[in-house]
Amino acid sequence: MNMDTIEKNQLWEKALAEIELSVSRPNFLTWFQNTNIADQNNDVVILNVPNTFVKEWLSNKYHKIIIKALRALSPAVRNVEYVIAPQALNNQKVAPRSKPLPKIIDGEQLEFDEVYIDKTANLNPRYTFENFIVGSFNELAYAASQAITKNLGFSYNPLFIYGGTGLGKTHLLQAIGNKIKQDIPNVKVQYLTSEKFANEYVTAMQNNTIPSFKEKYRQHDLLIIDDVQFFSAKFKFQEEFFHVFNALYEANKQIVFSSDRPPKAIAELEERLRSRFEGGMLAAITPPEYEARKAILQAKAAQKELIIPEEILEFIANNIQNNIRELEGALQSVFAQSKLLGKIPSLQEVKEMLQKNIKSRRKTTITRLIKTVAEFYNISEKDIFEQTRKKQIVFPRQIAMYLLREDFNSSYPYIGEKFGGKDHTTVIHAYEKIANHVKNDEKIQEDIKQIRELLYAKEV
Ligand code: ADP
Ligand code: MG
Repeated sequence: MNMDTIEKNQLWEKALAEIELSVSRPNFLTWFQNTNIADQNNDVVILNVPNTFVKEWLSNKYHKIIIKALRALSPAVRNVEYVIAPQALNNQKVAPRSKPLPKIIDGEQLEFDEVYIDKTANLNPRYTFENFIVGSFNELAYAASQAITKNLGFSYNPLFIYGGTGLGKTHLLQAIGNKIKQDIPNVKVQYLTSEKFANEYVTAMQNNTIPSFKEKYRQHDLLIIDDVQFFSAKFKFQEEFFHVFNALYEANKQIVFSSDRPPKAIAELEERLRSRFEGGMLAAITPPEYEARKAILQAKAAQKELIIPEEILEFIANNIQNNIRELEGALQSVFAQSKLLGKIPSLQEVKEMLQKNIKSRRKTTITRLIKTVAEFYNISEKDIFEQTRKKQIVFPRQIAMYLLREDFNSSYPYIGEKFGGKDHTTVIHAYEKIANHVKNDEKIQEDIKQIRELLYAKEV
């Protein structure tokens, strides 16, 4: 039986929806993305998978679940075969880019003031495997990171770890570097952010030292590049990076990347680079569930030799859900407060303290949203509040209102008040108008995507 593409896609979409229910979120993201049905021969479904690791993993661990899901939808299915189908890599011509280099976004950079083990490697000894807490939300990324330290260049290459801000990507990447340095003294390791890489490249270009730039990177045994989502806006380096990366890869040098989103969600990522990223091992880190959050707090409190009542830890674990850095921050406040008071604060005091933090963070984010929208549409921040019906002002203002509602759940009256005492019906109208456009207008979808990218990529 030959199925057409739509049938195949639909069958697999439905099967995935079923599979998702019986597999943890990180596992699902890690093993099932970039899979699709290639064909169905009689009772055998041929599944395309991106690489060997995924093939082994699916056939060893998820074979039964996959067959069960497919059979529920298409009872004739008896077996599944896995076929590696990497995307075409080298036969695409890349058009020369004529756009100027965009301004480099000032992202979350690691500026280590602390002691370095090794300045050139840029590793901070604070980040180790030993003090990394493992739960189901990060165990795959952790296991893959451990695996590459045991067989550098030959187990998972490249390793691509992705997940939201403050979930431990940098910690893991640094732990890999530290472990390797410790195990193999003469190894050449380098950790850097994608921005640093881009900056070095620009400098090399200006100084006519591109050959030595390339030579330098080709000598690394382990190259770790953090936050590669910033490559999305930096067209020029992508091609260069692809070549540097390819040279390393072909020499079996280990490469590790992190990003706040999977490769396919990085806008404007060059296709060859994307398929290279996807051709290795992609490991997701998802936000930790409640029990894990509590365990993290307990472990961190113990490291500080701080005895904090269970109810306080539970309160923090309940209220800070998406970010381990914030969990640490909350604990740090409790710690600071205890020093100040000479005793552990009460639950009530902790509540008040955290509420204040949450509120002020919210306020700065909203201010930044408005600023980001204004900048994006090339108007001044003052203009966006101006009482005018000029289209070039009204439209960005409506976008800002829409995002306040969508992303911050702000009430209509609150938004109206923010924008100079507008009536809430005006806000509703703006929201609905943009919401409608979002459904049909690709340009607006793209605008909103880019604004969100600017806004959240650098969120701390
Ligand atoms: P990301 O790079 O994903 O934004 P980081 O690696 O900077 O996040 O982590 C934020 C903070 O949380 C760091 O101080 C890090 O040590 C800590 N952290 C993150 N994950 C863990 C973990 N699993 N165990 C212990 N600490 C963690
Ligand atoms: Mg980081």
